[in-house]
Amino acid sequence: MSDPSEDPASTLVQAISACQLCAPDFAATATAHAPRPVVWFRPGARLLIAGQAPGARVHASGRPFTDPSGDRLRDWLGLDEAVFYDRARVAIVPMAFCFPGYDAKGADLPPPARCGATWHARVMAALGPRRLTVLVGGHAHRWHLGRTTCKGGVTATVARWRDFAPDVFPLPHPSWRNTAWLNRNPWFAAELLPELRQRVAEVMRDD
Ligand code: SF4
Repeated sequence: MSDPSEDPASTLVQAISACQLCAPDFAATATAHAPRPVVWFRPGARLLIAGQAPGARVHASGRPFTDPSGDRLRDWLGLDEAVFYDRARVAIVPMAFCFPGYDAKGADLPPPARCGATWHARVMAALGPRRLTVLVGGHAHRWHLGRTTCKGGVTATVARWRDFAPDVFPLPHPSWRNTAWLNRNPWFAAELLPELRQRVAEVMRDD
């Protein structure tokens, strides 16, 4: 039996889990926290959820999307927690693995660009081919689709979802802060979400 520590993906998971590159930056935030990478992927997953960065609740739990954003995202995908957290089928890879902290006004800081630059391409290579990629928020849109494609911003990119389906779906962030956005863009729930749920169900059903 092979030693899992020799598996390149396991080695990468261990390296990210031990990463402290942002420690000085996080120590200087209003939250003054230490890095806690939330790493949740395994090669062979058929669905990739490419997200933004953990929030404070996920920083505490060490498990991705254990917050109201996660509840809304699971509803959008039509997945229960058992499947959502099945790493054999679902990989959850944010643009930053750690909670970036709050600024002095209590607003979320953006994911540190150093995390995406250091790890994201290596994780994508380790994951291998996916059946479906769901891009959550503008940072993931820009990395995976390119800045030129996303130059109109999140609303314009999500509105073009048919250009990327059925293999890629760009979504807004499921944060409560985007509830007004959802109300302003009813086509998202009426048109995109039914197609997304159908596609997720197909991908989860196939062997
Ligand atoms: S955010 Fe990324 S680069 Fe920064 S400490 Fe965490 S894992 Fe390392």
